[in-house]
Amino acid sequence: MKIAVLGTGTVGPTIAGALSALGHDVVIGTRDPKATLSRTEPGAMGGPPFAVWHAAHSRIDVATFTEAAARADLIINATNGAGSLQALTAAGAANLAGKVLMDIANPLDFSHGFPPSLNPVNTDSLAEQLQRAFPEARVVKTLNTMTASVMVDPASVAGGDHTVFVSGNDAAAKETVTGLLAGFGHRDIIDLGDITTARGAEMVLPIWLRVWGALGTGAFNFKIAR
Ligand code: NAP
Repeated sequence: MKIAVLGTGTVGPTIAGALSALGHDVVIGTRDPKATLSRTEPGAMGGPPFAVWHAAHSRIDVATFTEAAARADLIINATNGAGSLQALTAAGAANLAGKVLMDIANPLDFSHGFPPSLNPVNTDSLAEQLQRAFPEARVVKTLNTMTASVMVDPASVAGGDHTVFVSGNDAAAKETVTGLLAGFGHRDIIDLGDITTARGAEMVLPIWLRVWGALGTGAFNFKIAR
């Protein structure tokens, strides 16, 4: 599948690398490819600068958000939650229309310090904001409830015996996303329902952050025992 991964932080390269290794034709999107490739500072999680990662993944093109979205059949939003609307506006409504938009972003609000709160929250979600802004895109919220390495390698935690959620209005889009999740090795995939259920998935973050603080590692996930 032709896939555009929008985002050059920790999640974007992790997902892009894993999808490319699975044989997908992947392009990674950023605001300014030249500036992104010339970054020398380490990634937020202490990973290598983007150019070092890209040198090891040279099959993956780096393009603007617009070019990346135009070239792909499926778009993944792995941008900062506070910038996601801007990133997808740059990608272009016409380049999103009719396509699956897999949304991994969390609307973290650091304006009151750390740990962050969520904005929007309770009666709205980032996924719903994106669906409203791009009504012709087929938004599916998923994978936002775990750290990047676990997204693409669930077996690295408890042999993969844990849960991932999907939320969205379009059943066929959720089926496509479920196929990608299964490709990463996810086995317990719970369809929460329409896009409003993304409120629940996004509101996992406050507890995720406290567990991370308590354990000192992001290498964990939630299991819905039943
Ligand atoms: P991040 O630092 O949250 O986001 C980096 C990306 O956001 C970059 O591609 C950057 O564009 C883009 N961006 C930032 N501000 C922007 C703006 N104003 N307009 C357009 N684009 C903007 O990276 P991350 O840690 O990989 O997280 C990505 C998303 O996944 C976030 O929403 C995060 O909450 C969520 N998430 C992260 C993890 C994790 O393990 N890190 C786990 C679950 C969910 P440029 O490429 O142009 O710099």
